[in-house]
Amino acid sequence: MKRLICVLVMLSMMVMGVCGMAEAAVQSTANGDVLYQVALLQSLVQGYFDGIITVGELKAHGDTGIGTFEGVNGEMIVLDGVVYQAVSDGSIVIPSDEETVPFSNVTFFDVDETLTLSGIADMAALQDAMNSVVNRLGANCFYMVKIEGSFDSLKVRSEYKQEKPYRALDVALAEDQTEFDYEGIRGTMVGLYCPDYMSALNSSGWHFHFISEDRTRGGHVLQVSVGEAEAAFDMTDGFEMILSRENVFQGMELAKDVNEAIHRAETATVGNND
Ligand SMILES: [Zn+2]
Repeated sequence: MKRLICVLVMLSMMVMGVCGMAEAAVQSTANGDVLYQVALLQSLVQGYFDGIITVGELKAHGDTGIGTFEGVNGEMIVLDGVVYQAVSDGSIVIPSDEETVPFSNVTFFDVDETLTLSGIADMAALQDAMNSVVNRLGANCFYMVKIEGSFDSLKVRSEYKQEKPYRALDVALAEDQTEFDYEGIRGTMVGLYCPDYMSALNSSGWHFHFISEDRTRGGHVLQVSVGEAEAAFDMTDGFEMILSRENVFQGMELAKDVNEAIHRAETATVGNND
């Protein structure tokens, strides 16, 4: 009898142990430390602007992030579970869940580290400050960040929705980019840091989008100086990507080096497309 009880106790301990492991695995996913990516920046830059998943589906994979919409119809900002669309006139609309997405990165945000920013003169200085945290915690993980506060000056861009046949993104933006300058504006920059090795699937380093505190203005950040702001970092060690099975996508040469076009698409201002 004693032996039977002993075996039962051991069995129940084993079952509990297995359950404990399963619980831990579920918890790690529930913590959301997975960066979810729709397609490649390389497919977007080469002109694949067709939506691959819906906004509704995207929201199931994250509450914070950046991206764009079918036809590159504006810049996407995902914040606190809401998907915002900064359209060509710089204003914000809330897209329906049926709207589709050709490129995006989202994650479920949790704060791993914070940094106070004060008197940051330009984009290079902002990236240096943000890199001090990334380099300390580990530059080979992904980071989703939220920078909330006051911005002394800010230049953001959006673009006109493209019609088929689609051009390469940098070519389309050279004609159809719209830019907006703000001074003393409050709001949140949502940013993504990708490690150097991601340069074949996305762009390495930082990519920021902005939305104003009153949620009326926003876009892809070209230039910035930060007054006072708090940056929150979500260190992310998982990666998941969804691709299109569609023929045009499958026919694309996605290993082609388009880094110069990506650089132009991310940084060029009107009348300065180099
Ligand atoms: Zn962008």
